Amino acid sequence: MPVHTSEYQRVLQEAKKANAQLVVVTKTRPLADLEELYALGHRDFGENRVQELLPKYEALPKDIRWHLIGTLQSNKLKYIAPFIHLIHSLDRLSLLKELNKEGKKIGRVIPCLMQFYLAQEESKQGLDWEEAQELLEAIEAGKYPHISLEGLMTMASFSQDQALVRSEFLQLGEYFSRIQESYQLPALRQRSMGMSGDYALALQAGSTMLRVGSLLFCEKEPES
Ligand SMILES: *Cc1c(COP(=O)(O)O)cnc(C)c1O
Repeated sequence: MPVHTSEYQRVLQEAKKANAQLVVVTKTRPLADLEELYALGHRDFGENRVQELLPKYEALPKDIRWHLIGTLQSNKLKYIAPFIHLIHSLDRLSLLKELNKEGKKIGRVIPCLMQFYLAQEESKQGLDWEEAQELLEAIEAGKYPHISLEGLMTMASFSQDQALVRSEFLQLGEYFSRIQESYQLPALRQRSMGMSGDYALALQAGSTMLRVGSLLFCEKEPES
């Protein structure tokens, strides 16, 4: 069985206990794995590439809630705008503009999260506090009525240093509180943080949405 069912049930229970949602990250996993999760009742799937998300969307039942968790190129936006449940990776003003334009074109308000860059790794994406202000002010001023800002997202450093990882998650919580106090953004509620290696720390730090992948799958199918 490619899905590690007991691990899945365990993480799901921990998330529920903390009032958090579980998005299962299915990037690079075959359709059969997603079908197995679907049969277990799972509906929230996260993919990081539009090219991979689209064929899965086409092939699977339409009550699945698709989450885009990776960097989004503006030219791919139109393919997912009609159905995407939540974009976790709003990381630049130009993307905000494109999202709004696409939403307007199709008559939809597109839900998204602002991605913050808090980790120590250069390879990671996202806004810093100052860049975020610019987006927040424009959103609050009503310039982008076809997006709905539902929360914040971050990836912590890939590190064994628990204190470091915890401090990054707490930093996102701190930003969340500050934004809540300073801006009128009624839809703001999510803190998307926590992956296979750090989801327990993320839950302690107030995550409302885990994005967990590799932990929930067996490395390979057992030989028969
Ligand atoms: C791959 C990925 C995850 C899940 O990572 P795992 O370590 O497999 O749980 C979560 N968030 C983002 C943005 C990812 O790209």
